[in-house]
Amino acid sequence: MQGFILNITRAKNEDLIVSILTQRRLHTLYRFYGARHSTINIGYKIDFDIEYQIGYLPKLRHITHLGYSWLRDLDKALAWQRFITLLYRHLQEIEEPGEFYFDLLERLAQKLTKQHPKRAIIESYVDLLGHEGRLHHTLSCFVCEENIDDDPVLVRSFLPAHPGCIPKEPFERAKIEHLFRYKDAQFFDDREIELLWNILTEGI
Ligand SMILES: [Zn+2]
Repeated sequence: MQGFILNITRAKNEDLIVSILTQRRLHTLYRFYGARHSTINIGYKIDFDIEYQIGYLPKLRHITHLGYSWLRDLDKALAWQRFITLLYRHLQEIEEPGEFYFDLLERLAQKLTKQHPKRAIIESYVDLLGHEGRLHHTLSCFVCEENIDDDPVLVRSFLPAHPGCIPKEPFERAKIEHLFRYKDAQFFDDREIELLWNILTEGI
């Protein structure tokens, strides 16, 4: 089967515990150390087998790395890994998160061949917020609960607020509305993308 490596932790004797997101579930698997094994990394998409053993974590076997050409681009690889790490924290308690998250990573990986990594990830994140019912299409302030008629500020989880309620630099309202509606970040300049990225990395 195929999946994305969301997390790797060290166990004893350089063995690894590997969390892999497949279309159906988030697996936690044991990988014995072996000098001849290929290296694996967070964010890799792999083909693999699972060997079940009663009383132990199932074993991760027969790994093939299904590489992406853009992994050689350091900016893209780092942004991808950063998002994967945030996604793991978001999903780690959920064994069956649903196929949405696997499909989201598939689409994002395709977009990364052509698109600026932070833009692509911001758009995917908005998609995720929409899927989870956490996207605020009508801009109302989470602090005072009044409508926001001018430019909003955004905080963690892209929650909107009045600049008077949360003293931060606001975004242009039309750009935020376009982003939330069409999951499209094309109207933001690079500086704004950086601001959105910083909010995203506070935690999804
Ligand atoms: Zn307010």
